Amino acid sequence: MDQASYYCPRCQQFRLFQSTPMNHTPHILASIFLCGLWLPIWIIMAISDTPAWVCAFCGYHDLTKYLADPALKQRDLEAGAQRRAEAARKKEERKDWPLPQMAAVFVRENLLIVIGIAVVLALVVTGVVMIMNSAQEPTNYTLQTTSSYSPVSSDDGRGQERVSLAGTLEGELRMKFSDVTCTAEGTQTQQFVIASSKVDQKFADDFKKAANPILLRLRKAGFKDVRIERTFTNQEWRFSL
Ligand SMILES: [Zn+2]
Repeated sequence: MDQASYYCPRCQQFRLFQSTPMNHTPHILASIFLCGLWLPIWIIMAISDTPAWVCAFCGYHDLTKYLADPALKQRDLEAGAQRRAEAARKKEERKDWPLPQMAAVFVRENLLIVIGIAVVLALVVTGVVMIMNSAQEPTNYTLQTTSSYSPVSSDDGRGQERVSLAGTLEGELRMKFSDVTCTAEGTQTQQFVIASSKVDQKFADDFKKAANPILLRLRKAGFKDVRIERTFTNQEWRFSL
């Protein structure tokens, strides 16, 4: 309990005033147990703590600065009344002003606040735009990867061999089907495609047979599956090698 002598306006004489200073013990404990998380709150409370000084005789209390300087209270009261009168006078004077003039005067009188709000708004907008941009980036990368993806460049290094074998087999199959085309397709040129208007179920069945020497050559070249297309129709036969 702190004690000091101040002039008490109610008792009209100097009296003993008492004040209970801030108790720091619970804050020390809280700071320890919360691993320092309580520190900022403690600091704010300590800074804003204005211990109340109470007259020991009548219970009158006031801010320390006013007890220490009674004339200051009078000055502050007068200054406050003056500010309110000035505000009322301005309000009366401006009550018929058009909106643009009111806005212009408001901006001029509150320039710092207006600039502050503008800066905060600009930062928020910039932040939102950046977040939206960064959220879109992965999509862009995916598109880029897809469009620049090259089938031949990503194969097992034997794509050329398969393309060449397809050409050879096309020549051989021409004996049987004059309009046949043989191609190495798929992202890794590992699908062997035979297209002709003359292929049929029987050809497809025979082609699948293990004894077919063409299958062996296709496997050796790294082909993974076969598609036999009957052109000008929706018919096709597929099988894996
Ligand atoms: Zn008193």
